[in-house]
Amino acid sequence: MENQIQNNIAKILERIEVACHKANRNTDEVKLLLATKTVSAENIKIALNTHQTLIGENKIQEIKEKYELLKPIAHQKHFIGHLQTNKVKELLRYDVNCIQSLDRLKLAEKLQKRLEYEDRTMAAYLQFNTSYEESKFGMDPREALRFAMDVQQFDRIKIKGLMTIGLFSAEEEKVRKCFKRLKNIQLQLLDKDIPVTELSMGMSGDMEIAIEEGATMIRIGTAIFGKREHPDSYYWNEGK
Ligand SMILES: *Cc1c(COP(=O)(O)O)cnc(C)c1O
Repeated sequence: MENQIQNNIAKILERIEVACHKANRNTDEVKLLLATKTVSAENIKIALNTHQTLIGENKIQEIKEKYELLKPIAHQKHFIGHLQTNKVKELLRYDVNCIQSLDRLKLAEKLQKRLEYEDRTMAAYLQFNTSYEESKFGMDPREALRFAMDVQQFDRIKIKGLMTIGLFSAEEEKVRKCFKRLKNIQLQLLDKDIPVTELSMGMSGDMEIAIEEGATMIRIGTAIFGKREHPDSYYWNEGK
């Protein structure tokens, strides 16, 4: 397993390099986030020991379970799953550096309140549903400016970027359209001085397209840790 994870990471780094080269970008413009849902702390450790520093989890419960085991290893932790508003308090308990799945005002309100109470701040990416699929979470791209400006009123939430899950499709152009949408939202918000410098988009199956369209962070699970037991909708539809 150890060798396999190491080899898989090497392969991903190579794919990043090839994609960046093709897109005329520098390799260091694209960060790798290890999507670690269902992955054991032991296997996450193996990955972190190959000079990786960034993981993303989808469920508070899993963060909690792996927390003590991963604590001794320096790393950053992002939350990338659907978050119920009643879990905000818990989110703040386990050294999560950033929430990438901020997708509705109600959640932002709750987060702001709790951050105020604890007298701290948190980084956030705004998540958009660029595929317009009902099964996906994320704010409607057409509401981007209003949503971003509303969230900006919450002084404890530091907006750093945008996140999306592309359409699952073999039709490349349809997938690409999603990433272009996120890029366009970024340009629109940057124009209003909202500092959304990070574009978190691209997964195991579509990372090259995302890099071509400007991703600054790709989130990779399967291609590093192998297939998961449940379909992804199981993780994304929590609480629905
Ligand atoms: C699981 C997950 C990923 C990684 O997907 P893979 O296809 O396994 O690489 C990326 N982003 C989110 C939000 C996820 O839930």
